[in-house]
Amino acid sequence: MAKKTAKKTAPKKSVKKPVRKPGNRPAAKRLPAKAAAKKYVYSFAGGKAEGDRTMKDILGGKGAGLAEMTNAGLPVPPGFTISTAACNLWYAEGRKLPKAIEDEMMAHVRKLEQAAGAQFGSTTNPLLVSVRSGAKFSMPGMMDTILNLGLNDAAVEGLKARTKNGRFAYDSYRRFIQMFGNVVLEIPKEKFEHEFEAVKQARGAKIDTDLGEEGLQETVARYKKLVQDITGKPFPQDPLAQLKGSRDAVFRSWNNDRAIKYRRMYEIPDDIGTAVNVQKMVFGNTGDRSGTGVGFTRNPANGAKEFFGEFLINAQGEDVVAGIRTPRPITELAEVMPKAYKELRAFTSRLEKHYKDIQDFEFTIENEKLYMLQTRNGKRTGYAAVVIATDFVTEKLVKPNEALLMVEPASLSQLLSPVFDPAEWKKVPLATKGLPASPGAASGQAVFTSDQAVAWTEQGKKVLLVRKETAPDDIHGMEVAQGILTATGGMTSHAAVVGRQMGRPSIVGAGALQIDEKGRCFTVGGQTVKEGDWVSFDGLSGEVKLGQVATRPSEILQVLAGKMKPEESDIYQRFSTLLGWADKVRRLGIRANADQPDQSELAYAFGARGIGLCRTEHMFFGEGRIEKVQRMILADNEQDRRAALAELLPLQRGDFYGVLKAMHGEPVTIRTIDPPLHEFLPKREDLMVEIAKLEARGAVGAEIDGKRTLLRRVEQLHEFNPMLGHRGVRLGITYPEITEMQARAIFEAACQLAKEGIKSAPEIMIPLVGLVKELKDQKTIVDRVAAEVMKEQGVRISYLVGTMIEVPRGALTADEIAVEAQFFSFGTNDLTQMTFGFSRDDIGKFLGSYLDRKIFDRDPFQSIDTVGVGQLVAMAVEKGRKTRPNIKLGICGEHGGDPSSIHFFHKVGLNYVSASPYRVPVARLAAAHAALSVKVGD
Ligand code: PEP
Ligand code: MG
Repeated sequence: MAKKTAKKTAPKKSVKKPVRKPGNRPAAKRLPAKAAAKKYVYSFAGGKAEGDRTMKDILGGKGAGLAEMTNAGLPVPPGFTISTAACNLWYAEGRKLPKAIEDEMMAHVRKLEQAAGAQFGSTTNPLLVSVRSGAKFSMPGMMDTILNLGLNDAAVEGLKARTKNGRFAYDSYRRFIQMFGNVVLEIPKEKFEHEFEAVKQARGAKIDTDLGEEGLQETVARYKKLVQDITGKPFPQDPLAQLKGSRDAVFRSWNNDRAIKYRRMYEIPDDIGTAVNVQKMVFGNTGDRSGTGVGFTRNPANGAKEFFGEFLINAQGEDVVAGIRTPRPITELAEVMPKAYKELRAFTSRLEKHYKDIQDFEFTIENEKLYMLQTRNGKRTGYAAVVIATDFVTEKLVKPNEALLMVEPASLSQLLSPVFDPAEWKKVPLATKGLPASPGAASGQAVFTSDQAVAWTEQGKKVLLVRKETAPDDIHGMEVAQGILTATGGMTSHAAVVGRQMGRPSIVGAGALQIDEKGRCFTVGGQTVKEGDWVSFDGLSGEVKLGQVATRPSEILQVLAGKMKPEESDIYQRFSTLLGWADKVRRLGIRANADQPDQSELAYAFGARGIGLCRTEHMFFGEGRIEKVQRMILADNEQDRRAALAELLPLQRGDFYGVLKAMHGEPVTIRTIDPPLHEFLPKREDLMVEIAKLEARGAVGAEIDGKRTLLRRVEQLHEFNPMLGHRGVRLGITYPEITEMQARAIFEAACQLAKEGIKSAPEIMIPLVGLVKELKDQKTIVDRVAAEVMKEQGVRISYLVGTMIEVPRGALTADEIAVEAQFFSFGTNDLTQMTFGFSRDDIGKFLGSYLDRKIFDRDPFQSIDTVGVGQLVAMAVEKGRKTRPNIKLGICGEHGGDPSSIHFFHKVGLNYVSASPYRVPVARLAAAHAALSVKVGD
């Protein structure tokens, strides 16, 4: 629920360097004696490694994988890993390593020479190594890599002699100088490319491979001169100096702009550092019996059990990724090099069994001999995750509880949303990015008002609602639009909350959009989009594109809507099997936030067993209702107000009847009116304009008088701080007849259902309570009306009366409040707002800076602040239970659908969480994850 309070501004998306980087830390005075004794370098060679898979913190993901593969007896070229602790120390010591660690590394260099049977700088058998980064979390392509290290003027001849291939030796040397020159010496790549082009041109070579040994020797000479000219020093010939320089460059690359940006996006901490892997080179580019490739043990896009990947013959690793040559499908390797292919299949399926997860691997074949260079758990789409997890159980590779942990709860949303055809989506360039508020693919013609959205939809058009921000009276437009795109607002803004609740793809806070609602157009990146132009966006990634892109509906929704039989949809069956396993282990109940019968039915179909929050005011915006609500607000005496309320009564009763019925006897928490009344009236400025226009036309009589009365009332209702003003329980206290009407509508609906033989369990919830006396006041009304209705109807209904805990004072005095309240539902949206003192509608103005500067790790309106707001929740749980041991405890703020918040709510021992209908499956799985990994009270 957004309040029409102030304008919202998009969070700044630019990524600034964090103020506190490892290198900016106050330097540690001296290396503590204890640290010198600590181990910083770990070897892996000849079937034995000093590390293993459990040591990702120290060795990084790549280092831990290399160690594990070595221990498993796989053909891994020997090497060693310099730990992440060394990286952190390097920064702390002012960008150098203490001598003890340099010595430790030297000892490992000697060990590696022995294991590899080659020496650095040798003219007969030179040792060449790769130097690669590897943090705990994979950050593909973000940091630097150096290959062929160890080559110098002497070693290149050694390599030539050993391989009997001068062209190959000089090409390797050329590549090395270029990489080292760029990464370590920071010479722009173009300068090298320029020299290379000059040689190619002079020798009439069209492509790189047209250059022979002599041409490459000339390139090497030119590269060395370039290095000398730019740095004033010759290209380093000492392999150890090369190694130290490269190692330090990898450490330095931990803090390059793209690595920092990547960490922001994926919430990877800044202070964990990267490890460095030094490994004997094997060559995929020695000729036609060599090659290199990457792959997955299963298809990471759709989960199919197929060997998936690509390779190149006669190439080095970077050629596959760089896209210079088109790689071939990995299955063709079976024909080209059957023995290596068979081995690769055997090794990778062994790895899959060993890690109990799909593997993403890299390999090189040098003269028909296969080497494994990397393995890690493969990243996959939500769809693939569900397919793989269920297949792993069928194949008896894991147990159901382990399979549950193979699926990220949030990724389930992807299965419920329409999707773009990936190939079509790729074709259209990116226009901008916003906050991914509600997942799903949306493509439609831009409209700028909700009325227009409805009108065009009625004409059979597909529309995308583009607004600066949305407000409660946009609900009709939001309902019909393919998607909602706003320029301002955060993750709990109106567009985000309602978009998620409706399952409508939404992007909010796309600050680059300059929207002219009156002019019915927006501009972005210099392009103007007019009403009717096609716009598409992916609500999962936040990407916005201009143009039309075809979508496909989610099969799961089609089954739930009865348009497809469950047995016809493989993904539906897997989805419901997985969630069935989740339901067996979770302890938290799952409810939904819904206020319409159809939303409630969908929530039930998704597995919600109860409504945790029915926002009754949302019902006030339906067809032909707002006028009645306005009449109620405009009434300046109780009698007129009661007359208007009497007209609203049958409408609300009908809504409650539908919602209670859809829940099949499960509890339904219905909240009495919450927002400030002015939200139901037109804007002051709009009214003033309308009156001025009428005056200019010389209008007199009822038409203009009505507007003037409305304006007077709007002005009377004006508040400086509506969010802290006349809303919530305060409305019920000043206008008890509103509470009376709502209670009557609820109980009459329940009685009607009872007469039809349908059970219902209403729970009446009073919002914004900070004082027990507020609750008592309203509870007295509810109990009185309940008794009256039951007597009139001759039916008994069991019901509860409780409160939201969303004002800090409510949490602090929860023991007193529990005397009256039969349940608490934590309203963590308002509780976050009031605990921080951050307006939930205005946080967009500074959220970006707070995230950039790491003051926040995550938006606290999205993921619960366990330290502050969470402390209030935990305190209220304890105090509430002390007074009333069997008090029902739930949460209905937006955090109820956020997996990490659900962990917290599990831990503090709530009875249930309530999420928007489309997040119910996410909540079911997250609650299972919590139950599998955290004990209540831990
Ligand atoms: C809350 O404050 O957490 C809540 C659920 O209520 P609303 O978002 O309607 O203020
Ligand atoms: Mg609230």
